Amino acid sequence: MGIATEKLRLSEISPRIMQSEIRSMTVECDRIGGVNLAQGVCDTEVPSSVVENAIKAIHDGHNIYTRLDGITPLRQAIARKLAHYNGITVDPDSEVLVTSGATGALYATCLALFDPGDEVVLFEPFYGYHVNTLLSLRIQPKAVAMAMHTWEIDFDALRAAITPRTRAIIVNSPSNPCGKVFTRAELEQIAALAEEHDLFILTDEIYEYFLFDGTEHVSPGSLPGMAERTITISGLSKTFSITGWRIGYLAGDKRWLGSIGYFHDLTYVCAPSPFQYGSSAGLVELTDTFYAEMAAEYQVKRDLLCGALQDAGFTPSIPRGAYYVLADVRSVPGATAREKARNLLKETGVAAVAGTAFFTGGRGEDILRFCFAKRDDDLQRACDALRNYRS
Ligand code: PLP
Repeated sequence: MGIATEKLRLSEISPRIMQSEIRSMTVECDRIGGVNLAQGVCDTEVPSSVVENAIKAIHDGHNIYTRLDGITPLRQAIARKLAHYNGITVDPDSEVLVTSGATGALYATCLALFDPGDEVVLFEPFYGYHVNTLLSLRIQPKAVAMAMHTWEIDFDALRAAITPRTRAIIVNSPSNPCGKVFTRAELEQIAALAEEHDLFILTDEIYEYFLFDGTEHVSPGSLPGMAERTITISGLSKTFSITGWRIGYLAGDKRWLGSIGYFHDLTYVCAPSPFQYGSSAGLVELTDTFYAEMAAEYQVKRDLLCGALQDAGFTPSIPRGAYYVLADVRSVPGATAREKARNLLKETGVAAVAGTAFFTGGRGEDILRFCFAKRDDDLQRACDALRNYRS
């Protein structure tokens, strides 16, 4: 027929954006009926006021598009939370945007702030969506490796990664996958570099309440002089166990928020209306005690999993925050981390993610990531299976 097939093709970038390893391990795990510690889904209870107010909103007719930046009570609740917990002062009418999860927040931010060919620095191990969001927009990610297992930052390497094309540094604290919680001193050094090189800081704080051993969460946007160059991203997926509701938000200077809001409107229109009402009620009604108790519960889960990994001979890097553990699994058969993950699943029925999903340059082949955001009985079953693996 003479069809010009060279135009009937995927974009050049498509083959580089791969189906995540996490999803394929989940499929494998479901197939054998195993315990899925690969996926970061917290299948714990949703707070009842959050559920009830979302249902009420549907019955009350809040089923149409909302304002593009989100409903007023939710923006006000977010602004109050940012002042109270993060030490960040924003105007709820012009400096807060309700988004389709933290994922939509980052995507809209990158669309609004960066051009193809710009570079953005981030720390390794990284969260794959951060890298792939940049790649999909033709922005070049530059990964700066943190020291294996201590996750200390090499500031000389960070400085060396910054070029005239660099526009931003992404910070994710507490970190997925390594559980590092950036210290105030580290963030001050990162902030000083951002000021020196005139860079944005995009900070993903989705795990901000998942803190262990008395660790303090510091928001880069609260540091002196950082307000105008920091976009603070967070959301309720993790704290309220509502990953499927798609409620996140971002805050930053009004110079940037208008355009970011426009791009968010273009891609998502608005976050789901009734879920905005449910989330707003949760933010208003739940007190500091709720978040403290949640962190304490997750610390017990962390200790349970780290103990089992230790007993199985898989040295864990003990996380200070978030809900993942990177563990050294060099004793598991397999030439690559993907093979090790599949062998471990076959032997124990426990699914984990190959470390290579979070590293560049061939690093991560001896590492698997295990998630402990699981119900206690599932986590116990996984821990028993891991302990048995050794014996
Ligand atoms: N940011 C990080 C670091 C994550 O680990 C995740 C989920 O695993 C997300 C963002 C996704 O957040 P949301 O559901 O709000 O899009």
